[in-house]
Amino acid sequence: MKITIAHSTGFCSGVQRAIKGAKRALENQVGIYCLGEIIHNPRVIESLKKQGLVVVDDIESVPKGASFIIRSHGLPKNLIEKAALKGLEVLDFTCPKVKKIHTLVTRLSKEGYFILVAGNPKHPEVKAILSLVERKTRSAGDAIVVQRPEDLSIPDRCEKLALVVQTTFDPARFLDIVLETVAVSRTTLVHNTLCEETLKRQREALELAGRVDYMVVVGGKNSSNTRTLFELVRRKVPAVHIEACDELDEQLFRGVERVGIISGASTPEGEVREVYRKLESFEVARRGYSC
Ligand code: SF4
Repeated sequence: MKITIAHSTGFCSGVQRAIKGAKRALENQVGIYCLGEIIHNPRVIESLKKQGLVVVDDIESVPKGASFIIRSHGLPKNLIEKAALKGLEVLDFTCPKVKKIHTLVTRLSKEGYFILVAGNPKHPEVKAILSLVERKTRSAGDAIVVQRPEDLSIPDRCEKLALVVQTTFDPARFLDIVLETVAVSRTTLVHNTLCEETLKRQREALELAGRVDYMVVVGGKNSSNTRTLFELVRRKVPAVHIEACDELDEQLFRGVERVGIISGASTPEGEVREVYRKLESFEVARRGYSC
């Protein structure tokens, strides 16, 4: 069995920056708080917890004056304000690519654009983007999240529309949403805010999927970019999405000659190598000899 690892695996630059920053901070101080998991990878989270990271699901649980991490996805404006009120020392690891969307949406909203965000409404990045939209009324009405083209509903007499997209959204679905939007409004500003690194990874995944019989996608089950990778490759070849090598079932690889491995942006290189070694061990067992 020939096993090929895609070129772009391991952490993306935004995750790398957040993890490095958190580790550096934890060298000098234990008890640094993070609202939600800093990245979608259970093993990395466990290791950071051992070093003193405290993951909470509510900002009220963070003690006054404590150090507080903002993840690469960013944080909604009201929570940043709460952190300031509590006197938290904020370590802001919002990915620069996400920050660019924040700046863009803040400006467009001030200029009176109705904002469309192509993305998953439950994703923290999307929640943070939406929080920057100027509210002209108390009701939500100045922005909507569009996950599928059929979700698109534009208020009457809305003259200025601007569309941005969650950095890790499925590009094909984004294109469908763009087409739907321009069909209903000729005056839409479309900003392609998809992450270049994610697109590169997706291109490589598709290219690799085209020359293997089976793909293994490694990454957190709750990681948006990993799920998108899995959805893309399985349209081409049979594929499995795993978080760690112990989930690999040898039966799946019976008769498989060529396997490709790709990882999500929050998967460490080490976990990819473990998957490689496990697949290699299947091959050794298949041939009936050991190293
Ligand atoms: S996937 Fe892209 S936008 Fe998201 S954290 Fe990584 S580099 Fe930043």
